[in-house]
Amino acid sequence: MPQFDCICGEDDRVILSRIQNLDFPSYVLKNPCCWRRVCQVQAKYTEHLASGIWSEVCKLRVRSPRPPTIEDEAAQLRQAQLQTDSLVLGEIMDEELRERLEPLFQQESLALDRIIREASVLLEDRLRDLAGAANALSGVRLVDATLRPSSCSIRFSDDDSEQDGARFLYRGAMQFVRNPPMHRLVSYPEATGRALVRLTDCLLVLLSQAAEQSMRAQ
Ligand SMILES: [Zn+2]
Repeated sequence: MPQFDCICGEDDRVILSRIQNLDFPSYVLKNPCCWRRVCQVQAKYTEHLASGIWSEVCKLRVRSPRPPTIEDEAAQLRQAQLQTDSLVLGEIMDEELRERLEPLFQQESLALDRIIREASVLLEDRLRDLAGAANALSGVRLVDATLRPSSCSIRFSDDDSEQDGARFLYRGAMQFVRNPPMHRLVSYPEATGRALVRLTDCLLVLLSQAAEQSMRAQ
């Protein structure tokens, strides 16, 4: 955000030197308080100033940008917010998730529950797809059917207890991440919402990696 500079508190000599060198930070000459101050210094030290310099200051003032208004600053804040959002979008590792979320991130207000719902649907869909599970299976039943150590179609680990750990991880994602926004409108604190999106992204990546390994092991 552009810093608005006010030079009113500066010493007379400093302002005099600014006048002599035509050296003013942008906005200052269009800022009423600063312009009044510059005029006072000019009036007080007229005899010290080179002839013609004052008319140069006046010309410079005409060319100076106007100070940013509250509206400008609000627009800049919105812009900065958009950049932060796209930064998070850019951080998403799973390509399909990034593509799906892009339009949702472009909307003026970030609907985090819709974003999390969309991400969770993709996670569920990917699990069903990679495991070749029936369409009728969803949520924890889908996770249990595809990741249970005794009968899993996707292996995260040769160690059954670790495999079960992965099952609980994805069960947790269904119960804790997917279900709330699926069943009701949730208003997430921004940091929580973003963390849940990142978590789902990680689960998507781990799932794809495990599925690939399982395929190769067959
Ligand atoms: Zn000022």
